[in-house]
Amino acid sequence: MTKKLIVITGASSGFGAEMAKLFNKEGHPMLLIGRRIDKIKELALDFSNVLVKSVDVTNYEAFQAAIDEATAIYGPVDLLVNNAGVMLLGNIWNQDINEWKNMMDTNVLGVLNGMKTVLDTMKENQTGTIINISSIAGRKTFGNHAAYAASKFGVHALSETVREEVSGDNVRVLVMAPGAAETELLTHTTDDKALSEYEQWKQSMGGLTLDPIHVAKTVKYMYDMPQEVSIREVLIAATKQN
Ligand code: NDP
Repeated sequence: MTKKLIVITGASSGFGAEMAKLFNKEGHPMLLIGRRIDKIKELALDFSNVLVKSVDVTNYEAFQAAIDEATAIYGPVDLLVNNAGVMLLGNIWNQDINEWKNMMDTNVLGVLNGMKTVLDTMKENQTGTIINISSIAGRKTFGNHAAYAASKFGVHALSETVREEVSGDNVRVLVMAPGAAETELLTHTTDDKALSEYEQWKQSMGGLTLDPIHVAKTVKYMYDMPQEVSIREVLIAATKQN
């Protein structure tokens, strides 16, 4: 069977890079998006059917242009994984308001932008899947996570709304909410106290976090279900995480 086009945002590290490797092994044509394309180009992939584009997901026009370029080569998008995200921990009374804006812009507007780039065609073709990456912090609260949690609770709300709107067109909108994992995510937090509290919290659970490969495999499992089956929401975390 001909493999269909998969788009992954935030493919330059962490979960997105693992997803790219997994779907690449299956031979899917892919559009891989991130701002640091050098890092995407360093991944161990067969690049013969992979388009790599430097796109800031907060920029709708640039996102749409990349999608248009990829679909002109590989045909319509069958799966879009809105994975790009940023987490900047801290108490809101100490935090620079630009950190909130960064999280809202990337984690919420970036996901809306991604969905808008593909939904018209998916509805017209009566097929397609969108998987939005949220977080366990999109389902329960944690200290130092106020703005991040707001952005990720938002991902669940917008995804469920759109799911109901497009389900009749046979388009799947799914949410995948992972727990803590070792990626670059934490490295952007500027608040040292929040960082050390996060580290203590992790140690209180035995220091164990998810391996990103399990997140990638779960996304693939959700996608691989027949089109008439929607695993609407998955919450996956290390067994010892609370
Ligand atoms: P990483 O920091 O390793 O990866 C984040 C990715 O997002 C990078 O590839 C980065 O690429 C990309 N990105 C960030 N901002 C933008 C932007 N404006 N435009 C385009 N790409 C952007 O973190 P993870 O792999 O951990 O995170 C992936 C997703 O998983 C995020 O949505 C995160 O919130 C979520 N998540 C992570 C958890 C964890 O513990 N790691 C737990 C729960 C959810 P570049 O910098 O090259 O643009």
